[in-house]
Parts: sequence; structure tokens; C-alpha cells
Amino acid sequence: LFDFKIILGKNGVPVAENFRLEQSTIADTIQAGQVRVRTLYLSVDPYMRCRMNEDTGSDYLLPWQLSEVADGGGIGVVEESKHDKLAKGDFVTSFSWPWQTVAVLDGSLLQKLVPQLVNGRLSYFLGAAGITGLTALLGIKEKGHVAVGANQTMVVSGAAGACGSLAGQIGRLEGCSRVVGIAGTDEKCSILVQEMGFDGAVNYKKENVAEQLRQLCPDGVDVYFDNVGGDISDTVIRQMNRNSHIILCGQISQYNKDVPYPPPLPPDIEKIQKERNITRERFLVLNYMDKQEASILQLCQWIQEGKLKVRETVVEGLANIGAAFQSMMNGGNIGKQIVSVSK
Ligand code: NAP
Repeated sequence: LFDFKIILGKNGVPVAENFRLEQSTIADTIQAGQVRVRTLYLSVDPYMRCRMNEDTGSDYLLPWQLSEVADGGGIGVVEESKHDKLAKGDFVTSFSWPWQTVAVLDGSLLQKLVPQLVNGRLSYFLGAAGITGLTALLGIKEKGHVAVGANQTMVVSGAAGACGSLAGQIGRLEGCSRVVGIAGTDEKCSILVQEMGFDGAVNYKKENVAEQLRQLCPDGVDVYFDNVGGDISDTVIRQMNRNSHIILCGQISQYNKDVPYPPPLPPDIEKIQKERNITRERFLVLNYMDKQEASILQLCQWIQEGKLKVRETVVEGLANIGAAFQSMMNGGNIGKQIVSVSK
């Protein structure tokens, strides 16, 4: 048996060359409790940027080790099982799936998947019906203070990405009367409005964000789903209302910089935040895993009902996973960035 490994090569700004593809052998027999799986899909996510530093900056993330196999969210099919609850043909997932085409894994660390829940679109379990969907839904529920009939305006940054595209739609489903996105290309902005039901979208690379937001959010901003931080967030916060809420989901514009998380706001913005009583609490989806099961069922129901539109950007082949990661970090994706490893 052979497996192909992606191995982290060096620190620094992430590029495809940080990863190396290697061929090696794996055991041809498995032990009691183990399964042999064939990898179908792998996820590349912004948090992996932190795992490329020796100090990840957070207590829940371990650094990837040089010349060891990288890992992350993955989905595969069981090809051989010596675990009593898993059988050949079962679809399974894990948050720490090795970046290999084939792997021998401890069956007790895998979760079994029900493809019918996502109309057979298994990769959705890495996105809209997985951690990404949970982040959008629980972020809004736990930190958004969204209420039906409250006539709230929500702004989402990183809006055409995996979390952002769901967050805007969920904001609407939960009761926001106006949803506006900020994203990096005209194509992304038009998909947000035409396909995902956003009321408006701003291309931050081309347009004057402050001016556009003033037009698109005439009553100010009540809820801000922040995926990016930096200048974009400072601009949004300037237009936030009294007693409004920031959902501090991520700060991708700051991930290549040596700053603490969450990065402090510039003094003038912090002054606005305090004076207007704007909440900005750290949100980490992993702290709400007791709500995982019910929330995934809610997300799957919305997907099946067509209420949640899902986009993916799929790159084929394990050899391209480093390039897929680099591309996602630079905005090459619309919706969830997925790597399809085998069919
Ligand atoms: P994603 O949004 O699908 O992909 C990243 C996107 O970020 C890119 O497509 C790009 O889109 C945008 N971007 C990159 N650099 C930027 C910059 N300097 N300024 C503005 N936008 C930039 O990734 P995701 O997986 O959905 O993650 C989104 C955010 O959620 C990240 O910050 C991530 O860390 C966070 N997150 C948090 C939790 C949690 O528990 N709190 C869980 C999961 C994810 P453009 O073309 O628009 O630039």
C-alpha cells in the first residue's frame, strides 16, 4: 500500500511550496479497533495558518511539525474495518484527518456520516453542514443578538467565503431585515446579491467601503459578522449603532502578522466601540460543541429546503492541496474551499 503525504517544509507567509508530496508505504494489516480509509475530501482553512508557526498563538491548536504529515478536517470511506461500530463502505469524518490518500486510523476517533442529510453532497460536511456552518450559525446565535422583528441591519466581511456566505443567509433566516456583504471581487459581490439573497455587496478592493456602506445601510449597522479585522472592520465599526454587536469570528487580514488574537482595535475605533457600547467578545465555535448535533440538523434542514445556498470551490488531487490553501488565503475561493482527493 502507498500513501501520499503533504509535508510542511518551512515557516513564513504560506505558499504552495511549504508543502511537499511524498510517496511512502503504510501497514498492510490493521489492528483491532482500527480502520483503513480512503480519503475523499480534505478541507483547507484559515486557522491552519496558525498551525504553521511553532507558537500557534492559541492553546487549542497544535503546530504542524516539520516533515510530519499535516492534518485537518477530512472525509473518507472505510475500506477495511476491525472496529465494531464501523463497516466497509461507511463514510466517516474527523477534524484531524491526515493529508494522505489512504490511512489507518483509530475507529473511535471517527464520526460516521449520513449522506442523505446533505442530499449526497458529502463534502458539505466539511462546510455548510460541518464546522463552517456551525461557526456561522452559532456565532450569530451566541453573539449576534439577532431578533425577529427588530429590523436589524447585518454586515458581513469575508462575505463570499465559506463562513461569510452562510452567515449572511443565516442572519436573514434568523430575522435581520437587511444584510450587506463585503468581498474582494465583483463576481463575488454579484453572487452574494443574486444567488444568496444579500441586499447589497461592496467590493472592498475597488470601491470606497465607507461610502458604499452609508448608502447600503442607511439606518446604521446593528450586527457585524467579522471575518477579516483590520481596516475593513474599522470602517464598519464607525457606522455601527449604539448597543450593537460584533460577532468576532475571525481576523484573516491579520493572520500573517505577529499580533495577539484578537488584535486590539486602534485607539480611535476602540473609543467608538466603548462609547457606543458595542459588544466585541471573542467567539470560538469549539466552545459550543454541546450544540453541535442540533445545529447540524438545523443546517441540513435548511440545505434540503433550499433556504441555504451552498457554494464550493473544488480543487482536484492531493498534490494540489498546498496551492488550494494558498489560493483560499488570497481570496481564490467562492464558498468553501475543498480538495477532492479521490472519487
Ligand atoms: P473563507 O472566508 O472561505 O476564505 C478566506 C477569505 O478571506 C478569502 O476568500 C478572501 O476573500 C478573504 N481574505 C483574505 N485575506 C483578506 C484580507 N486581507 N482582507 C479581507 N479579506 C481577506 O474562510 P473561512 O473558513 O470561511 O473562514 C473565515 C473566517 O472565519 C476566518 O477568519 C477564520 O479564521 C474564521 N473562523 C473562525 C471560527 C471560530 O470558531 N471563530 C471557525 C472557523 C473559521 P476576499 O476575496 O473577499 O478577500
